[in-house]
Amino acid sequence: MNSEELFLRSKNVVPGGVHSPVRSFASVGGTPVFFSEANGAYLKSVEGKQYIDYCLSFGPLLFGHRHPEIQEVVEDTVKKAWSFGACEPYSLELAEFITSRIPWVEKIRFVNSGTEAVMSALRVARAATGRSKILKFDGCYHGHLDQLLVKAGSGLAGLSSSDSKGIGPEIIQNTLVLPLDDEDALEKLFQEQGKDIACLAIEPVPANYGLLPQRTEFLKKCRELTNKYGTLLLFDEVISGFRVSFQGMAGLTGIVPDLVCYGKIIGGGFPVGAYAGKKDLMDLVAPSGPVYQAGTLSANPVGMRAGLKTLTKAWNENPYPELESKTKKLTSGILKLLEESGENDWEAVTFGSLFWLKGKTKNTVRTITNIPSDHKAKFAIFFHKLLNAGVYLAPSGYEVGFLSTVHSDEVIEETLNKTKQALKEIK
Ligand SMILES: *Cc1c(COP(=O)(O)O)cnc(C)c1O
Repeated sequence: MNSEELFLRSKNVVPGGVHSPVRSFASVGGTPVFFSEANGAYLKSVEGKQYIDYCLSFGPLLFGHRHPEIQEVVEDTVKKAWSFGACEPYSLELAEFITSRIPWVEKIRFVNSGTEAVMSALRVARAATGRSKILKFDGCYHGHLDQLLVKAGSGLAGLSSSDSKGIGPEIIQNTLVLPLDDEDALEKLFQEQGKDIACLAIEPVPANYGLLPQRTEFLKKCRELTNKYGTLLLFDEVISGFRVSFQGMAGLTGIVPDLVCYGKIIGGGFPVGAYAGKKDLMDLVAPSGPVYQAGTLSANPVGMRAGLKTLTKAWNENPYPELESKTKKLTSGILKLLEESGENDWEAVTFGSLFWLKGKTKNTVRTITNIPSDHKAKFAIFFHKLLNAGVYLAPSGYEVGFLSTVHSDEVIEETLNKTKQALKEIK
């Protein structure tokens, strides 16, 4: 069966044929490729076609698909146990590994996804402060929990409107939304409502609506105002944690959050999330405190050991400087080819091993309102050229690209050759 046939079948039994919306190719058009195997930097489709993968499961695979050292640990674990629903040493090892290397992670609780991590951290924040309101920023994604699935509402600053049907106004009445990159709006909102805000949640490198690196001064302002008003600062490092540096964005900026969420890389490709923070906050969580949170499959041994192996490699090998330079090499190579083929209106935003290709703009884009309006259509054309040539980008112009350590110079060279071919053929 080819991808087209599988997608038709899938649409009969699964909403939109997929288990997560972006996979459907709705944003770029066409039929999604069905993959059956992956190895290193490569994906193999059910048709047997090979693709160089720059989506990497949306970030978890820092060392590429099925890195042999991680695979070995996974195979060893599967022979021993799949799940206990009881105490085991594997999650302890991962918890100790992280808490001894990230000072603001004094205690950590493992869950099964980034969404669950953020949802639980908000519960802790409300319990700790006795306040109800949560502040988030337009363009930051924190998973699909009801209370944060909101965008800025029209009219009054701070008001929100739901981003999904099924989330009534009563559920989001305590969610405030501000634009990124705007200290004045932030200051004003805190003056008016700061004493009611339990938590300011932010992706310190927003990477789920394009890549919108913030000015450090803006992040500092978030810390300054939350300190002043007794609001907790939550860094959602689900995508940036162990990706932009081992200690994530908090480590790079020196801005210490009260609560932090992880996901993606922390499970090495298996479903793991975590929320963490200072002892006094995390001790509010059951059974040591009154904030209930539980999970049947939480701290699954396969995810725990794949995560520990991944983080151990990241800590020991410090792949970050090389990942960054390879990412720059890739994007500058692509831009050069685009230019040679007559498309000189592209630019790349990169941050470590994250990259985002978009149309040229006069100023750095730090808010979603400044993303060029033709971006989606422009990306879709480029996406399909590359797909055709065997290069797989995330199938949406609002998703970022990722590199792994196995995206070697040779793989990048191969990518550029394929890109060159793709741009030539279409012309
Ligand atoms: C991916 C992501 C989430 C959601 O994690 P899931 O595991 O998909 O639930 C939350 N926050 C950020 C910043 C993310 O990148």
